[in-house]
Amino acid sequence: MAPDTFPAPSASESAKPFSVLVVEDMESLRSALVAELRHAGVSSVLEAGDGDAALQAFRQFRPDLVLLDIRLPGNDGYWVAQQMRIAEPGDWTPIIFLSGLDNELDVWRGIEAGGDDYLTKPVKPIVLVAKLRAMRRLLDMRRRLVAMSEELHLANERLNAMVEVDALTGLLNRRGFDQRLHSEILAARRDGQPLTLMLCDLDHFKLYNDSAGHVRGDVCLQQVARLLREVCVRPRDSAARYGGEEFALILPNTPRSGAMTFARALGQVLKTRGIAHPDSPVAQWVTISGGITTCVPDESTSAESMIMRADQALYAAKAQGRDRFFSFEMQMDTLEQRHG
Ligand code: GH3
Ligand code: MG
Ligand code: MG
Ligand code: MG
Repeated sequence: MAPDTFPAPSASESAKPFSVLVVEDMESLRSALVAELRHAGVSSVLEAGDGDAALQAFRQFRPDLVLLDIRLPGNDGYWVAQQMRIAEPGDWTPIIFLSGLDNELDVWRGIEAGGDDYLTKPVKPIVLVAKLRAMRRLLDMRRRLVAMSEELHLANERLNAMVEVDALTGLLNRRGFDQRLHSEILAARRDGQPLTLMLCDLDHFKLYNDSAGHVRGDVCLQQVARLLREVCVRPRDSAARYGGEEFALILPNTPRSGAMTFARALGQVLKTRGIAHPDSPVAQWVTISGGITTCVPDESTSAESMIMRADQALYAAKAQGRDRFFSFEMQMDTLEQRHG
């Protein structure tokens, strides 16, 4: 079939151009349909006389609707419909079968093959125009739905990005923490400055809940969170709720020794504040164990590697008796006397 039988949409068309691909092997029938469609105001009518030409036109011009004869030379209309569906995954172009037989089985097979409706030949103009309008309406509706769900998807992403705050404590949540740590690693690497990460875990908090109840446990977490926010005095220090009763502190421009001093002070503040722990074997107040890691980040430093080191150090702080901070790099905790 010659290419000039696929007229390209002209610039003079209406604001909402609509194109229809007519697949019909009988020349006279096809011409009649084309004339009828033009008469009905379809801005662009494409024609094909067999399955291969139909598929080629479909892929190249992506018509808004297809009128598809069932009996075609070579591959039949059912096959063509299936191929069209395969050619537009996730998309949907209405396909109306043209059945010469008014045979119910034809209709059934047509719908099964991916068709949306059928017309019996000879096609009555008024029926053709009515079906055209109905399909066009469906198509518009579908497009609006697709656009809406894309907008929803975008809005959802924006919302997720905004939700970086933990609902219970008001601190950064895990998501916010991950982003902050990542950006502070980049900043410290650029500036050649030491960066400290502390992972803090409340001691025997299960016993707290068991004794005082979950509601008071939540209040306790809020109190600890407030205290952590207070000790983050420098503008870029940040406190986050890492998970359940675990918190994280990101302290830019803080060397190892400074981190140890900070941790000791934190222990003191906790003691002074004295949030009563009803059942702790460690102290009468709520205590925290912490793991500290400090480094001047290089290319090999990742958020994951820092978290892993801090986590190992936290494990050591717990193992050595809790209520203390352990430095991964110094292999020493805040209760040990410093040598030299
Ligand atoms: P350890 O000193 O070894 O850390 O002991 P632990 O009891 O603190 O640790 P464990 O991991 O056994 O228990 C943590 C507890 O923290 C258990 C869980 O009920 C409590 N928890 C976690 N998230 C929340 C929360 O959002 N609210 C309250 N009230 N409790 C929580
Ligand atoms: Mg035919
Ligand atoms: Mg824990
Ligand atoms: Mg704990």
